[in-house]
Amino acid sequence: MRIVLDSGHSGSPDPGAVNSTIGLKESDVTLAVAKLAKKYLLAVGHEVKLTRTEWEQPETDDLSYRTALANDWGADIFISLHCNSAANESAKGYEVWTSPGDTLGDRLATYIYEQVAAEFPGRKGRTDYADGDPDKESRFYVLIHTDAPACLVEMAFISNDEEAGLLADAAWQDRYARAIARGVTDYIATLEG
Ligand SMILES: [Zn+2]
Repeated sequence: MRIVLDSGHSGSPDPGAVNSTIGLKESDVTLAVAKLAKKYLLAVGHEVKLTRTEWEQPETDDLSYRTALANDWGADIFISLHCNSAANESAKGYEVWTSPGDTLGDRLATYIYEQVAAEFPGRKGRTDYADGDPDKESRFYVLIHTDAPACLVEMAFISNDEEAGLLADAAWQDRYARAIARGVTDYIATLEG
């Protein structure tokens, strides 16, 4: 399978959300986790591309650069990685988003959500079960302009100092990457079954 991992934000000029207490940039977290997830997915025989490979890559500010990369390659799976942010510094938890409607993206999102929930049972899952599954739905650009089943993971709130500390931690990033990779392989297994 061809899997695209989309590291949210370009680094420069757009670092995404920033935790000023520890100076952590969303763009650095998303690339670190994408690189780790790539390693795990390559190890089980999949092809993987990152939409951003450099810590600062201005051309990736244009989201069509990212979706074109996936579509031109004929990607089978597209996963966008982000960190959440809110004015309320106590906001916390993880979310997985898909485009509206019931698509294979919902199935992909559910497996990723379940693996993240299993890996981090103490953390808060933020869900919307209105359509019968845990993912939330929105017309995010990268979700509606990719041909492949797609989802977007808001890994945790970088605006929350406790969660920012986790997002900055290499061991936690590695656990997150493995959880996402397991969600992907669970999804692929259902296609093959
Ligand atoms: Zn973001």
